[in-house]
This record gives sequence, C-alpha cells and structure tokens, in this order.
Amino acid sequence: MTCGRVLVRFKNSSQIAEIMKLRIAVQSKGRLNEDTMELLKEAGIKVSSSRRTLLVAARKFPMEVLFLRDDDIPETVADGVADIGVVGLNEFEERAVDAEIVKHLGFGACRLSIAVPKDVEYPGTEWLQGRRIATSYPGILSRYLESKGVQADIHVITGSVEIATGIGLADAIFDIVSSGSTLVSNNLKEVEVALESDAVLIANKNLCAEKREILDKLLFRIDAVMSASDKKYVLMNAPRECVQAILDVLPGIKSPTVMPLAQEDWCSIHTVLDESCFWDIIGRLKDAGAQGILVLPIEKMIL
Ligand code: ATP
Ligand code: MG
Repeated sequence: MTCGRVLVRFKNSSQIAEIMKLRIAVQSKGRLNEDTMELLKEAGIKVSSSRRTLLVAARKFPMEVLFLRDDDIPETVADGVADIGVVGLNEFEERAVDAEIVKHLGFGACRLSIAVPKDVEYPGTEWLQGRRIATSYPGILSRYLESKGVQADIHVITGSVEIATGIGLADAIFDIVSSGSTLVSNNLKEVEVALESDAVLIANKNLCAEKREILDKLLFRIDAVMSASDKKYVLMNAPRECVQAILDVLPGIKSPTVMPLAQEDWCSIHTVLDESCFWDIIGRLKDAGAQGILVLPIEKMIL
C-alpha cells in the first residue's frame, strides 16, 4: 500500500495534523512538462515553478509533484514511490511495468514507426526478416515483430536513431515520428506504425482508499478541463422565423437555449459546439439568418 502521510504543524498552533497527499511524477523538463503543468494549473492545482526542486507541494489540492526524467516515471509509479504519473504511452509500453493507465490526456501525440531508406521498394513486413533495425525501443519493437512473425536483429542505440541507416549501422530504424520531417531530412520513409502514442496518466495499482479518492477528484477536474478544451460557446441573434432553420444546421446538440430579445420577433440562440465543426457550419448559419455571431472560449465543462 502506498499510503504515506505528511505531518503538518499549523501556524500559531501546537496542533499536528496528518494530511494525505497524492504524489504525481511529472517530467522535469522536455516535451511533456509544459502541457502537464498547464493541465494541473487549469485543474486549479498550483505548483510553484520558481524553485524547481525534485519534490514540490501543490497549493489548493492535496498533492505533491515529483519531477523526474520520463524514463524513470513508469517504474517510480509501479513501485509506489509516486502514486500517479504522466508519461508518454511509448515510454510506459516500453518499460512494461505493472501500473494502470487511468486516462489518455491527448497531448504529446506521436507514433512509433519503422522507417526504411526512401529508395527501398518495401513490400511489407517480410522485408524486415533477418534485417538489422536500430531503435531505443527494443521492447515494443520485439513485441511488434513477434506479432508479425518476423525475426530481425534489434540494435539498441539511445540517441540519433534516425542517422543509423545513413551511416551503415542498420537497414531500418524504429523510432518516434510526429511530423515526419526528421525522416524526410534523413532520406527515410515510414513503412509501419507499431504504436500511436499520447501522454497518459498512470497510477499505482495498490493505492489506498484515501488516495483513490484524491485521484477521483483529480480525474473529475481533468475531465472538466478536457471536455471544454475543444468546445466553444456560440451565441447568435436571428429573427424568430429563422430559428428552426438555424436549429436544423446546429449538429447533435441536446437542447440549445432560445431566448426572446427586447426587439420584437427576434431571438438569441446559445449553444456549445466543437470548434472544428463551427468552421464547417458558419456559412450555413449565416445563410439561415443568424446575425451577430459570438464565439467564446469555455474554461471548464462539467458533463
Ligand atoms: P527526459 O530528459 O525526461 O528523459 P526525453 O528526451 O527522453 O526526456 P522528450 O524528447 O522530452 O523525452 O519527449 C517526451 C515524450 O514526448 C516522448 O516520450 C513522447 O511520448 C512525446 N513526444 C511527442 N512528440 C515527440 C517527438 N517529436 N519526439 C520525441 N518525443 C515526442
Ligand atoms: Mg527520456
């Protein structure tokens, strides 16, 4: 059980209280740090960033943040040194530790792919049979090759995997791809995607009930932040006779608010839309008679 308590002595009092804190492991610097800290901030959890020490207590929430290299996060959570953590699915799958994924967070999107020199005529995974593949992810690669019935020579290198074919170290590489520009600049082409990754919130499997409760509160807040992130609050005015035509254009909403305006026979229509869908239907809303359309960000959304 990971149920460490922190003793707190209140100011101006000899009273000592036991405060249960959930310890979250976060990447200390690198691609996931900023988005993770922003998510915590949006969820109302403040962490001082001025003194980046290893362990920092959060304000306004019973949590402390343990800053680590991302390689160390899966094991730290599985061991119970941290209760939960934010790490790329790629790193979590590679370590294959005994912890649970509680939520996909959507940011840090990338994929783990096999790439070969661009001149290779690649017929399928059979091309990889007996070849040498350079990677920093031998665990995921060997499981992927096994699932395809391919035997290859996995050559582990920790950095600059993308140059391995160019310098004759390997026939193919298996590495993180996001835009694909690194592959292009190294004369490579992506031929197999083994894993689609994003940042995941992972948790120790043996959290005590009190820590589970704090985790549930955190998840509730994260859900509210994530639900709102790609949504917009949209308001528009329209003559009453146009309202039905406008409602017909608005997609899949439960019940938009329609309110009368001071001006006779005019209404205000309020609704929540996906930002992407809004751009698709804006022209049709105007054609249907909508005027003075306002689009506002939504900070939190409790479903
Ligand atoms: P650390 O110093 O913590 O070990 P790192 O150098 O291993 O950091 P980063 O490059 O900061 O790791 O990447 C962290 C995670 O960000 C990756 O494991 C992956 O999940 C995600 N990611 C998203 N896009 C990319 C990308 N283009 N290249 C590398 N990682 C990416
Ligand atoms: Mg790392």
